[in-house]
Amino acid sequence: MRYLMLCISYFLAFTSSCQSQKVERDLIYQVSTLDALMDGQYTGTVPYGRLHRYGNFGVGTFDHLDGEMIGLNGQFYQVKSDGRAYRVKGPMKTPFANITSFKADWRESLKDSINYQELTEHLLSKLPDPDKFYAIKIEGRFRHIKTRSVPRQQEPYPHLTEVIANQIVFEYEDIEGTMVGFHMPETVQGISTPGFHFHFISKDKSRGGHLLDCTTDRLKISIDYSDKLQILNEKEKDPALTHPADKRKTRSVKASKK
Ligand SMILES: [Zn+2]
Repeated sequence: MRYLMLCISYFLAFTSSCQSQKVERDLIYQVSTLDALMDGQYTGTVPYGRLHRYGNFGVGTFDHLDGEMIGLNGQFYQVKSDGRAYRVKGPMKTPFANITSFKADWRESLKDSINYQELTEHLLSKLPDPDKFYAIKIEGRFRHIKTRSVPRQQEPYPHLTEVIANQIVFEYEDIEGTMVGFHMPETVQGISTPGFHFHFISKDKSRGGHLLDCTTDRLKISIDYSDKLQILNEKEKDPALTHPADKRKTRSVKASKK
C-alpha cells in the first residue's frame, strides 16, 4: 500500500477505495490520532513544510512534544515551555496537528466580558450543528488569558497525562491576540479532540500556548464550517501535492456516528 488515508466523514459509509486526494478547503486535516499522542508517540513524522500545503490555520505540537503549535495566516509558531513564541521552520516535524484553510462562513463581534465557559456556551449556541466540524478564530483583547506549554520530552516517552501533570502555566492580563482552534463532535473520541480545543498567540507573536482559561474583553469571532476530518498518512507523500500526474491507487476508510 503506497498511500493510505483515513477519512472520518460525517456520513455512515465504509469504503475501500477512493481517488487520489486533492487538498480541499473545507476539510480539517490531521496528523496522527489523539490516542497515539496520548500513548506517547511524540516523534515528529510530518514536516511543517509539507503541512503548510494543507492549510494556513491550525493547532498541534512538535517532535519530542516540544511545545504548542499555532498556525495563523499561513505562519506556524512554536510556544516552548519558556512561554515564548518562535517562528517554525519548514524542516521541523509534527507528531500531531490539525490544519485547515480558514475561510469564515460566519462572523460576529462580541463586546461582553465573559469567562471561558460562557464563551464556549456562546459559541456552541452559534454552531449550526454541534455534531459537525468547525474551525474557529477569535481575535481581539482579553482581560485575562491562561495558557500552558510542555517541555521537550526524551525517550522512552511518558504518557501524555504524565507530561500534562508537569505542564508550565502562563497568565497574562489585558493582552491582545488570537485564539486559534476547532470544535469537533463527540464521535471523534480517540481520534481527535471532541468539543473545543484552542491555542492562543499574542498580537505581537511573542507569547501563547494551549488555552486553559480566559476572560474576554472585545472580540471578533469567525467560524469556518468544515465538512469532515481527514487523517494524513504520515509516511507517504500526497501524490496530488507532489506528483499531479501520478494516478497511484489510494485507499480510504470513511466512518461516522450512527
Ligand atoms: Zn492544545
